[in-house]
Amino acid sequence: MRQSLQGQGASRGTVLGRARIRLPHALQIAEQHVDPAAAESEHQRLDAAIATVRDELHALRARLHGALAQEIGEFLDLHSLLLDDPELLQGLDELVRVRHFSADYALRVQRDRLAAVFEAMDDPYFRSRVEDIDQVIGRVHAALHRRDCELRGFAGEVLVAETVAPAELAQLQAQGVIAIVTTGGSPLSHSAILARSLHLPLVVDAGAALDQVNDGDALIVDGGTGLVVVEPNGDDLRAHRERERLHAREKRALSRLRREPTRTLDGVDIRLFANAESREDVAEAHALGAAGVGLYRTEFLFLQRNELPDEDEQFRVYRDVVMGMSGRPVTIRTLDVGADKTDRTGLALRDEPNPALGLRGVRLSLVRKGLFATQLRALLRASAYGRIRLLVPMITCREEIMQVRAEVARVAAELRAEGREISDDMPLGVMIEVPAAALALSGFIRDVDFISLGTNDLVQYLLAVDRNHEGLGRLYTPLHPAVIRVIRDTIRMGRRHGVPVAVCGEMAAAAEYAPLLLALGLTDFSLHPGTMLEVRRCIRRCDHAALQAHASSLVRARDRAGIERWMRQASI
Ligand code: PEP
Ligand code: MG
Repeated sequence: MRQSLQGQGASRGTVLGRARIRLPHALQIAEQHVDPAAAESEHQRLDAAIATVRDELHALRARLHGALAQEIGEFLDLHSLLLDDPELLQGLDELVRVRHFSADYALRVQRDRLAAVFEAMDDPYFRSRVEDIDQVIGRVHAALHRRDCELRGFAGEVLVAETVAPAELAQLQAQGVIAIVTTGGSPLSHSAILARSLHLPLVVDAGAALDQVNDGDALIVDGGTGLVVVEPNGDDLRAHRERERLHAREKRALSRLRREPTRTLDGVDIRLFANAESREDVAEAHALGAAGVGLYRTEFLFLQRNELPDEDEQFRVYRDVVMGMSGRPVTIRTLDVGADKTDRTGLALRDEPNPALGLRGVRLSLVRKGLFATQLRALLRASAYGRIRLLVPMITCREEIMQVRAEVARVAAELRAEGREISDDMPLGVMIEVPAAALALSGFIRDVDFISLGTNDLVQYLLAVDRNHEGLGRLYTPLHPAVIRVIRDTIRMGRRHGVPVAVCGEMAAAAEYAPLLLALGLTDFSLHPGTMLEVRRCIRRCDHAALQAHASSLVRARDRAGIERWMRQASI
């Protein structure tokens, strides 16, 4: 029967595909008993489910080939080991046969027991193995209910899940997932950013999706509007085809702007830099005539794996990015793991009560000196191949900048002493995303070569609204007078001191905000290539002088409604 679900669009694109459900990892199963006389058959049911999963894992292992084979194979081996763990099996046996719990509830109890053991370990790597326990137990639970839980065979399917981690997105796409719908999540999360980079349609915050969608249902997913139609009718299918046609037409129209300058009606040139997460992004940025890379998030190199990338591996990646932009500047940000970018290498602490306020960004780099030095060595070596600019995330105060500068100088001297070729001039910039840094900017602006406004975090920290919190909805917005003023003041301060200021948060990627940012004096945008042509088109329709003339009324707006009114009047 046709149903529709409204979530939030997080990565654009409309697809029609078959639903594939992934049950939540944490089993929320209430205490259930079975009749003592039925305990034995309940135990057999559980045994059969475990045997099914054992066979599944074996079969899956045998079928692996290609680039991801080794990585996935390691996981499958680990999962097989967990499945045969005597503690797990004896515990399940006792819970069902002796204490007469249902197989489902026994699984939950054993999951929680094992997870507690891992979570209490000192080693962050072992702590992060809870994910694997959840996957193994989830498989057994799925087998108990004859739900398909295979890792393969996603081709043409829409994954419906509670959440999706940034680390698994590329793998899911490689396996053939064409869109994702999650019940939680937010359009500002790193998963969403990465989905946009992968051009993988994503709808988040679709609350009831796991209750309303079944494996095999046909789904139309609109990653722009956030609408999900379950078992579409004829009208829906027609509308979908029409949207696809419009989309193709729009793409053709935009592609004519590939070689056009980003120049306003009154002749002001604006620079569009690219946010890049992968080599493909870099190639796309180059083809779209980006002024350079404005933000290369190195943390994505550290996710999706169990061990840290060494100096040579990082060097090759950074060098590829630099050479990929053939002479245009490339801004590479040092590691910014933490919060929702948790990884399997154990870098991000799992048990921080407030990860967004914890050991992330430059804080982590300054504590993990060896890790930072390795990254700096790789970056400095790559600087011999083009124009690298070093960008430091989560700066709060001048002291951090001075420590980073000292470390860069130390590593550069070390490399020179080894006879390595490095650039004599690698500009060092900071992200302004912590309000304290914005307010204290006059004290350290002479110590930086450029500034990048990270509006994603800036909004989160200025408004005290978690960027990943699906329940806060409209509270997370850049359309707040405080945000507008901080952006305006930062740009002004940069201009006064001859320090370039870019915006690299998602705000720069939305064409609707372009007039507002131009009015605030922005000339450097950094955004994902996926929306670069739309932003270029919008800027080309703007009259820069007219927007500047109305900037003061924008800054005077007292609330969101006032800012929105200004935007409507400015809209072209
Ligand atoms: C930001 O905070 O705006 C930003 C660009 O960095 P990230 O989204 O990676 O935190
Ligand atoms: Mg940030």
